[in-house]
Amino acid sequence: MEKNNRDAAFLQVGNKLLDWYKKNARDLPFRQTKDPYKIWICEIVFQQTRINQGLNHYNNFIKRFPDVQTLAAAEEDEVLLYWKGLGYYSRAINIHKAARQIMNEYQGTFPSEYDEILKLKGVGKYTAAAVSSICFGGRMPAVDGNFYRVLSRVFADDFDISNSRAFVYFSELANLVMPENVGDFNQAMMDLGSEICKPKNPLCGVCPLNKDCLAFSLNKISEFPVKTKKVKTENLDLTYYFVHRNGQFLIQQRKDDFIWKKLFEFLPAISAELEPFIKSSKTISHKLTHKNVNIEIYDVEVDSETVWNDFTAQNEYLITDLEGFHHKSFPKPLENYVQNSLKD
Ligand code: SF4
Repeated sequence: MEKNNRDAAFLQVGNKLLDWYKKNARDLPFRQTKDPYKIWICEIVFQQTRINQGLNHYNNFIKRFPDVQTLAAAEEDEVLLYWKGLGYYSRAINIHKAARQIMNEYQGTFPSEYDEILKLKGVGKYTAAAVSSICFGGRMPAVDGNFYRVLSRVFADDFDISNSRAFVYFSELANLVMPENVGDFNQAMMDLGSEICKPKNPLCGVCPLNKDCLAFSLNKISEFPVKTKKVKTENLDLTYYFVHRNGQFLIQQRKDDFIWKKLFEFLPAISAELEPFIKSSKTISHKLTHKNVNIEIYDVEVDSETVWNDFTAQNEYLITDLEGFHHKSFPKPLENYVQNSLKD
């Protein structure tokens, strides 16, 4: 194909996508605004969370922290609390740090250039491209898994998405397809990738690109995208002691960088005087990205006031009850454990 014809064919794909988006864009709260703060928060919230699962969290977060000033002035624990249920808490910690960074380094004004947005804590190329294109007319494709999947299928392109050059490769391909309105194009790709060109069972019959899609016409959709390298999953064993008495229990805040940093947890160890109070144990399996976590939790019901008082006086653990628990963020399996243990 001649270069001009080829470029026109690429562009046609982008324009068709844009036409489809104009008629079919999902009516979401962050689609009514070009406020970079709100677009940034929404991009981070929905990075690992499906729209319908995260929408209430997003709305509550924005209600409590409507602007960068309010977020920067908040305590980190409160930000974590508003993130409860979304998981991947390092995103909340980074959002909070970035808000302070905007206050200190950008006088409270959200940076408008892609390169500057990229300097914010926790912001990667995808988020920087999304915010700069949607809010400031920047011309960067927000390349993520949706781009990989849609583009590799439309062009039956077998470039391996586990290759370290995949981001650069698909960014170049996206540049060929990208029409004038890059902000809408990026959002169109997000919608198409999550609603139509899904990883499994894509809805090709209603896809605006089905006449251009090579994988569809060759009946080879399941072959794209190509991914050769499997990410290794590692096993992680944790032990906790749920030390409690009369509805109160002992917790501490995690400092570990490994997982669940800054969340609250039960005691990872106990001293000999508490061992006689171990009543039972339970093993819980929990899956994280690339990790299978096996958690053994010992139920330690201290039915001696003297031992409880001595132990709490000698150690710096926090004492909480169900009411206090609801105001703190715990890893999901520990949260479920408390709710089941103390529900009576
Ligand atoms: S036709 Fe099917 S495989 Fe091709 S882009 Fe559309 S949904 Fe994806």
